[in-house]
Amino acid sequence: MADRLAVFFDPCIFDHDTGQGFFEADASPYLRVLEKHPENDDRARNMLSVLQQGPISEVLDWHHGEAAQRADLERFHTPAYIDELESIPAVESRSFSSTTVFGPGSYPICCAAAGQTLAAASHVFDGHADLAYALVRPPGHHAQPQMADGYCFFNNIGVAIEALRARGLTKTAVLDWDVHHGNGTQQGFYDDADVLTVSLHMNHGAWGATHPQTGDVDEVGSGNGVGKNLNLPMPYGSGDIAYLRVFDEIVAPAVRAHQPEILFVANGQDANQFDPNGRQLLSMKGFHELGRRARALADECCNGRLVLVQEGGYALSYAAYCLHASLEGVLQRTAGLADPLAYMQEDCTALDDFVDQWHKQYAAALGRS
Ligand SMILES: [Zn+2]
Repeated sequence: MADRLAVFFDPCIFDHDTGQGFFEADASPYLRVLEKHPENDDRARNMLSVLQQGPISEVLDWHHGEAAQRADLERFHTPAYIDELESIPAVESRSFSSTTVFGPGSYPICCAAAGQTLAAASHVFDGHADLAYALVRPPGHHAQPQMADGYCFFNNIGVAIEALRARGLTKTAVLDWDVHHGNGTQQGFYDDADVLTVSLHMNHGAWGATHPQTGDVDEVGSGNGVGKNLNLPMPYGSGDIAYLRVFDEIVAPAVRAHQPEILFVANGQDANQFDPNGRQLLSMKGFHELGRRARALADECCNGRLVLVQEGGYALSYAAYCLHASLEGVLQRTAGLADPLAYMQEDCTALDDFVDQWHKQYAAALGRS
């Protein structure tokens, strides 16, 4: 039987209202036309649409999970932080940083996003399917145990992992190819030997009080978790070839060595070459290959158990196509959706030394810790 993919989705995610302005900043008095905040409902509507109507639609099984409960959230987040979000009146919005907007009535939506992710993970853990994907927003990978950051409030993958660990999951791994550093997931599992966290991101560094982590190579984990956090701060302008080389030479060996029971993928598409929020150059072909490789790793290490969760991806049309491409790769299907836009298929050569330099810097950082 051909592979099928279980998709978890709640339409309430369209109601998380992040407002309008000058991209993610406040409106400019010099401009007439406001635009939606980049993390908006339309991006998710296009993602839903391409999954419902694109070539892989025939192998998707749609599911709806329950919203995450307080006890689920408390396994990853502090009670005080959950209280802070829960106490925001439903008619009010609140900014947690200059760009991270909690809209009116967003609390139950955040619980629904965490809940879809938890349900997707449980579906795989319980053996109902090998492959699952949660189409959720707000995204989660910047949310730290005690703090919102980068459009994220609850760490959807972190909450799901802790729920499964409460039911007996031991070792797992999170592979995050969103263009931004998965600092929240890193923080939540930083001293944990059982959860390998791997983040490929553009080399943006720390970005303020809500994102003090640098995302650099020398953040290797602490205590029992030393060696269980890998940061791959890819040079700006990295494209398909660079990402796939780093996957093959650094990511795959690390996941193999860890031997997780389930592989999680923080599946953001903002490393695409048209994304307003990223400075990398991946094409649909690159995302297809990342999906294919993640599936191969899951087949090799985890009996095929793979859970993908939506993170960023802000190019309104192209991110949706790249999502479809990544899932086509996961399903081991040839590309059924043509790339209408990509160019610059050949990578720049600035990446030639990245892998060698990464190994040297990482080994030095381990030696110091
Ligand atoms: Zn991102």
